Amino acid sequence: MISVEEALEKVLSYVEVLEPERKPILDCLGQVLAEDIYSAIDIPPLDNSAMDGYALRAKDTRGASESSPRYLVVVGEVAAGSMPTKEVGPGTAIRIMTGAPLPEGADAVVRFEDTDEINRKSSRGDLSQIGILCQTKKGLNVRCRGEDIARGGLILKKGEVLRPQEIGVLASLGHSTALVTRRPIVAILATGDELMGVDQPLAPGKIHESNTYTIAAEVSRYGGIPKILGIGRDSVRSLTEKINKGLDADMLITSGGVSKGDYDIVKDVLAEHGEVSFWTVCMKPGKPLAFGVMKKVEGGGKGKVPHLGLPGNPVSSMITFEQFARPAILKMMGKKVLAKPAIRAIIEDDVVNTDGRRLFARVIVTKRGGEYHASPTGPQGSGILTSMAKANGLAVIPESSKGVKAGDIVEVQMLDWGEEQGEVKTLPIVLIVGKSQSGKTVLMEQLIAEFKRRGYKVAALKHSRGGMEIDHPGKDSWRYAQAGSDAVFVSSPDKLAFIKSLDHDLDIEEILPIIGPEFDLVLVEGFKKSKTPKIEVHRKELGDDLLCSPEELSAIVTDESLDTAIPQLPWGDTVAVADFIEKNFVLKSQDSAFLPPRRKRVR
Ligand code: AMP
Ligand code: MG
Repeated sequence: MISVEEALEKVLSYVEVLEPERKPILDCLGQVLAEDIYSAIDIPPLDNSAMDGYALRAKDTRGASESSPRYLVVVGEVAAGSMPTKEVGPGTAIRIMTGAPLPEGADAVVRFEDTDEINRKSSRGDLSQIGILCQTKKGLNVRCRGEDIARGGLILKKGEVLRPQEIGVLASLGHSTALVTRRPIVAILATGDELMGVDQPLAPGKIHESNTYTIAAEVSRYGGIPKILGIGRDSVRSLTEKINKGLDADMLITSGGVSKGDYDIVKDVLAEHGEVSFWTVCMKPGKPLAFGVMKKVEGGGKGKVPHLGLPGNPVSSMITFEQFARPAILKMMGKKVLAKPAIRAIIEDDVVNTDGRRLFARVIVTKRGGEYHASPTGPQGSGILTSMAKANGLAVIPESSKGVKAGDIVEVQMLDWGEEQGEVKTLPIVLIVGKSQSGKTVLMEQLIAEFKRRGYKVAALKHSRGGMEIDHPGKDSWRYAQAGSDAVFVSSPDKLAFIKSLDHDLDIEEILPIIGPEFDLVLVEGFKKSKTPKIEVHRKELGDDLLCSPEELSAIVTDESLDTAIPQLPWGDTVAVADFIEKNFVLKSQDSAFLPPRRKRVR
């Protein structure tokens, strides 16, 4: 049995980013741009008006107010789409509409509302003059040439996912097509003698098959193109024949026939016509899972098609699809963020995990008071597809855990969140500070172990004022740094170290981008001067005073009761400290975690 991570790594090692194709921009939604886009034009192409009003010289409005208007001679009019035919000289103005090019000589636009035009119109007054009712500044209500997009600039980068706004940018640049990574074609085959089509009347012992539909819908949802092969019967001949029809696809997904029953022969076909990579994964549901590569039909292209043999039970097939097929499809499409968006939530019922596999429990997630709550959907049998239909999340109970109790915090994969939500994540950071000998390092060690047990991916950061252990004089890495390298990386088959020369002591915010978003929690020892929320470790024997001022502290881990309103946690009770961190740092940091991604300005 292999772990979910190992299985995923194998699957991903068999799929490649597909080749690019050029197609109409409207067909590119959600695809990855395969070219850099530079602008051949300025947008806007000319200085133009941001308002309906009068184009004029700002200095002609000096001192203007409602009680003392400045009167200008109206010498013309210009609408969006046409060019001005006159210039604005001293004492004159041109009536102008939003988007119309600014006439020569004008340097500002005053809105109709700030003129006496309405009064003139209602009293059928003289429109060859206009009264300006406020003083204006140069550039006001003027959009400058190239202010959105400057000619020659790199506007969209290869690798960006095209959302509606990027498609709009492409259109504004005059591109009717774009080069994008092709969508994968995924062939889908249901297997089983008991299966009937949706439109066939049920015969005794038969069921309507649903996996094809769930899987095809998932393939489309994640950007692939489903190719439905129909139903294969439980014989090598029938399966081989059907599978052959799918071997021109980029990936083949079958469901059923991978467990230990007499008729579970998908893996036999795989073994005969391809190579089996594995077929049991440490997860529940979804333990029986086949993966391998099928040889392509004679003369059929690249030669090998990755084949994912999902279990037949509808829930198992959907959950294994989510864990393995989805990232494979995203990778083929050139996407970088493959992880399912996940949050931490408070589970509202006990969930037991009896057999040491990673459990994916169907849950309904709601948000209340800034915290996510996950409530199991009821019967969790892997044949109960309605449990998936009710759910909007999968609570992930680690294989190392015997289960969770109501009130515990669990990781939940959000079934319906878009992949871009996985991209923005605020890392919860906790600083453990304290006087020397207070037990910071011991607490760090215990917290790291405790959070690992809870299924977290933890990064630990130590602020060391006295220099760095790994940077020994004489070592190659040290010699590279002496020679002037700005950063030195040392890699070995199982570790990577990164040593960068600094010109100042970095603060946490500067270090975070280096740690990167892959972690669930950053535990930090030291940095007592940082503004980041801290937990102070306090020992009676080291004196009554605290190292940090009260307003900087979220909690105190202490071996005596202190007279303070700051929450106090018993020294030595790692579980209590970890619970506090989960509640106050991990859950709370999610409040801001899933705002829309911050994008660089297009320029
Ligand atoms: P198998 O993995 O072939 O032993 O199938 C396990 C269970 O899933 C059996 O109860 C099958 O009837 C059911 N099953 C297999 N394929 C499908 C399908 N395409 N649609 C619905 N149920 C299926
Ligand atoms: Mg079967």
